[in-house]
Amino acid sequence: MTVNLLDFSPNGLIRFCEALGEKPFRAKQLARWIHQFGESDFSRMTDLARAFREKLAGGAVVRPPQLLSDKTAADGTRKWLLEVGTGNAIESVFIPETGRGTLCVSSQVGCALACQFCSTGRQGFNRDLSVAEIIGQLWWANKALGRDPKGERIISNVVLMGMGEPLLNFENVVAALEIMLDDNAYGLSRRRVTVSTSGIVPAIEELQRRCPVALAVSLHAPNDTLRDELMPVNRKYPLKELMAACRRYVKDAPRDFITFEYVMLDGVNDTPAHARELVRLTRDVPCKFNLIPFNPFPDSGFARSAPDAIRRFQGVLMEEGIVATVRRTRGDDIDAACGQLAGQVAPRAHKSQRTKMTEVTR
Ligand code: SAH
Ligand code: SF4
Repeated sequence: MTVNLLDFSPNGLIRFCEALGEKPFRAKQLARWIHQFGESDFSRMTDLARAFREKLAGGAVVRPPQLLSDKTAADGTRKWLLEVGTGNAIESVFIPETGRGTLCVSSQVGCALACQFCSTGRQGFNRDLSVAEIIGQLWWANKALGRDPKGERIISNVVLMGMGEPLLNFENVVAALEIMLDDNAYGLSRRRVTVSTSGIVPAIEELQRRCPVALAVSLHAPNDTLRDELMPVNRKYPLKELMAACRRYVKDAPRDFITFEYVMLDGVNDTPAHARELVRLTRDVPCKFNLIPFNPFPDSGFARSAPDAIRRFQGVLMEEGIVATVRRTRGDDIDAACGQLAGQVAPRAHKSQRTKMTEVTR
């Protein structure tokens, strides 16, 4: 049986090499070839003994998802479309900013959680991505972008904010996180790898135990009545439990705050009264807010809040001493959007109506 080495966590790769009769440091050399140099041909891994290379070639491959397209926007944002079988594709997006570069990665094809304002949620769930498909997004982007002239990695941050709910594909996501953090692979700091979740309470606790990284929680409503409606997952894990999980997470986490994401929906969750309610809700949770202007899609039934409404909302939070940023639109000309990444290779209807990728402004 041929195994795909991109499916192995750092420890898994060590065990695999041991089973071939190799010392652990060989696994580290191999990881550097695979992840840092983006090499998939064992015969080019010149500092590995020939016998080891031959053993690898006999039973293993380095197989990332197939690359379907690679587009760069005028402002430097870049998007890769990767094939994940049976007409499905996933997108990952790179957002360059001064002093950092962020890759947005998907964890599932579709999503089962059916948040009303999310086009991935409207598509329904197709399947979990494998470890190779999750880390393959970083593998391609890293191979394409490499390092800057000073030898620093261009990708300094990864956010799991693409398609899917990362904490419902837990084991594969944890293995991919371990590869991202591994010094022989991508060497990212725990503070610069962010898992975004709709609020799967038991999995938040499990993440803290297994692989603590920065945490973003999609809040989107200040009370259970509205959140139940917008995000059905709230009926299972209501706000009181979610806030308690956030408090526990932040006590012992790489960053000392939770990022709350809040999509701004015109006339639905965007009044100053909602903002005041949010302040009360999050009083005991060290946090920052990231306000996301809604990205419309066909038949969504929602509209983006007016810029004035967003500013007022942000103002209420700031007056209460809560840091709140607004994501701004970027990458218009390559048709990539926050919470709206492609699920299909086949042309979608109304493609031109899809809106734009966004980024965090500070
Ligand atoms: N499932 C995870 C991560 C993926 S979604 C989660 O829900 O957190 C990444 C972010 O994009 C979430 O905060 C999500 O609520 C937001 N989002 C979804 N649809 C959106 C839309 N149409 N416009 C703006 N943001 C959206
Ligand atoms: Fe799934 Fe996140 Fe979209 Fe909700 S917002 S449907 S959890 S991807």
